[in-house]
Amino acid sequence: MKILIVEDEQKTGDYLKQGLSEAGFVADLARDGLDGLHLALTGDYDLLVLDVMLPKLDGWQVLQEIRHKGKQLPVLFLTARDQVEDRVKGLEYGADDYLVKPFAFSELLARVRALLRRGRTSEPELLQIADLELDLLRRRVTRTGKRIDLTAKEFALLELLLRRQGEVLPRSLIASQIWDMNFDSDTNVIEVAVRRLRAKIDDSFEPKLIRTVRGMGYVLEIPVPE
Ligand code: CA
Repeated sequence: MKILIVEDEQKTGDYLKQGLSEAGFVADLARDGLDGLHLALTGDYDLLVLDVMLPKLDGWQVLQEIRHKGKQLPVLFLTARDQVEDRVKGLEYGADDYLVKPFAFSELLARVRALLRRGRTSEPELLQIADLELDLLRRRVTRTGKRIDLTAKEFALLELLLRRQGEVLPRSLIASQIWDMNFDSDTNVIEVAVRRLRAKIDDSFEPKLIRTVRGMGYVLEIPVPE
């Protein structure tokens, strides 16, 4: 598997190239956007690790040009700041995933492997119920075509409910899957999160999709008329 790294910071670039090589990949390094673009278009890479702030061409321009030329290789975007606009912009330009600097190499490696498993064709993965859609790749949720902004936790919660729609999910399961914690009956973190999610995806729409099953948990489904 061949990976192209485009990163102008010498230390980070060398560190990534060495780490990925040691993990068994063939890794090339470009130190500016122009070189990176040239290599990405001419080399036969399986994945691109792309920094945002780059000399000559920035990461967004490189990404745009790559997609414009019809290259479908997965792109993992490195962003220095955890700014929502940057991430959204990257994803809208066709990045498949992003990492915020500083990051642990183990996390980068996990993302790289996940993207490579997903394969070359980055077909949008869409989860859907009624007129509600969740686009996993673009991290975007819409209902009746209207964009709905969710926090990371709300997004994860909705994704879980959608993947297991029609199934009553106990609070303990939601707690362990989304909050990585053991269920503690004193906490109302799940109730609060479900309430916020409902306010965003159900309150101004019909039918209501999230249902509370008393004493059991929550289910996402299209309600059967009584
Ligand atoms: Ca940089």
